[in-house]
Amino acid sequence: MARLILFLVLAAGVALAAGWFASEPGSVTVNFRGETYETFVGVLVVIIAVIAMAAVLLYAVLSGLLSVPKRLRAWRERRRADRGLKALARGMVAVAAGDARTADREAGRADRLLDAAPLTLLLSAQAAQLQGDEQAAEKYFREMLARPDTEFLGLRGMLLQAGRAGDRAAALAYAQRAAELRPDSSWVQRSLFELSVKAGLWTEAEEALRRAVRRGAIDAETGARHRAALLLQQSNDAERRGYVDEARNLARKAAGAAPGSVPAALRLAGLDRATGRLRAAKRGIERAWRSGPHPQLAAAYGPLTETGKEESDEARALARAQGLRRLSDIHPLHPESHLAMAEASLDAKLWGEARGYLAKAERYFREAEGAGGPPARLYRLLARVEEEEKGDAAQAARWLALAGEAAADPRWLCSECGHGFATWHPCCPACQGFDTLAWGRPEPLTRIAVIPGALPLAALGAGDGNRGGGRNDRPAEAPERTAEAGPPGQPTETQPVEGRRAEGQPVKE
Ligand SMILES: [Zn+2]
Repeated sequence: MARLILFLVLAAGVALAAGWFASEPGSVTVNFRGETYETFVGVLVVIIAVIAMAAVLLYAVLSGLLSVPKRLRAWRERRRADRGLKALARGMVAVAAGDARTADREAGRADRLLDAAPLTLLLSAQAAQLQGDEQAAEKYFREMLARPDTEFLGLRGMLLQAGRAGDRAAALAYAQRAAELRPDSSWVQRSLFELSVKAGLWTEAEEALRRAVRRGAIDAETGARHRAALLLQQSNDAERRGYVDEARNLARKAAGAAPGSVPAALRLAGLDRATGRLRAAKRGIERAWRSGPHPQLAAAYGPLTETGKEESDEARALARAQGLRRLSDIHPLHPESHLAMAEASLDAKLWGEARGYLAKAERYFREAEGAGGPPARLYRLLARVEEEEKGDAAQAARWLALAGEAAADPRWLCSECGHGFATWHPCCPACQGFDTLAWGRPEPLTRIAVIPGALPLAALGAGDGNRGGGRNDRPAEAPERTAEAGPPGQPTETQPVEGRRAEGQPVKE
């Protein structure tokens, strides 16, 4: 619209000018090399206009011709970049799909077409990794390290390479360099935390953990648990070096970091007891028990209730049974309260009380939703009461047989390797995973299909206590009992896990 108006205005202007020149003819005389030219002013204006237009046209044509090579070059570069980007995209897709050959081919193509763009280096490195060529991958990552725009990405690549090669020191150095570059990156703080833990650098690990939690890389609850585990590890180290007070302070911090943490409460109570603070020890356990009853809390509480003035084992057992009531009264309906009281009553030979608590516990495990049935521990206690009160070995044996079939007792189970332990450790003794142990019942291993032609059990050394873990890469130093192994007295059919695994595939049902 605006153009139309402009055109109309211009046309009107030209018409007016033409009209004006026609009405005012005037004349121009030019003397040039002895010749005299005479014409109207309007004609001269038209001649000048035509010459100007011709000059403009000539300039346009000439400059267009002169810029052809440049434009051709720009077009070629655009096409090259376009093909390079397409190769890059195909290469990335191939990496994601695990197609090593295509990834390598497209990486080479992208490298030729896109001269060393950051993404090309990354693709080349990933393609090399897919091909299993770690050296080439490292070369590309090193190239990335040298460029400011790819240094961070290169560090990540080198860190992963070092991790795969098992070179923890190098991995830690790369993580530290990455943390200097981008201290707020969540993967950096997470890696720094994990690598510092593996290297035993507890203070550095604590700092990295704090940042990782702040960045949301580790959730607050897990962060608090990890912090408690870090402090407990340091507490262990301090005690080993003979600094009991420092060890106790660290355990107190751990209990504060994760209130209700059973390992922290147990450790603090142990150190309180060792330094003569019996009341503090009891209070700490009561606090943790309030958050959640746990058999190991009850076991640690009992001895704290002895006054030290008892003269016989019987008197000590009686003191424990009476003292434990204070703990069980906090959660009087909890099955752990019943079981703990039953056990203490049995030790004190209070048969009637023991039977009463066992009946309550049994009712709970049978009726409560999600209780999972009576655990082996309950049956073992029932066997004890028959054996110790009445000497009824036959009935005790029946209870023990039931214990063999019952749900396995809970243990500290490693979420990484599946091994189970009687006591908690900051690092799993089997796989060295940090803070991987959680209290729980091992998976029931109910029945294993018998594979025809399997070797006789005796030939496999079954029942030598070295029963099957969930993995083949079992540590030389095996834990007391593995996660998948059942409680003692389990029917023979479930025992030779390892033997059958060697033969073929155990079938879990
Ligand atoms: Zn483990």
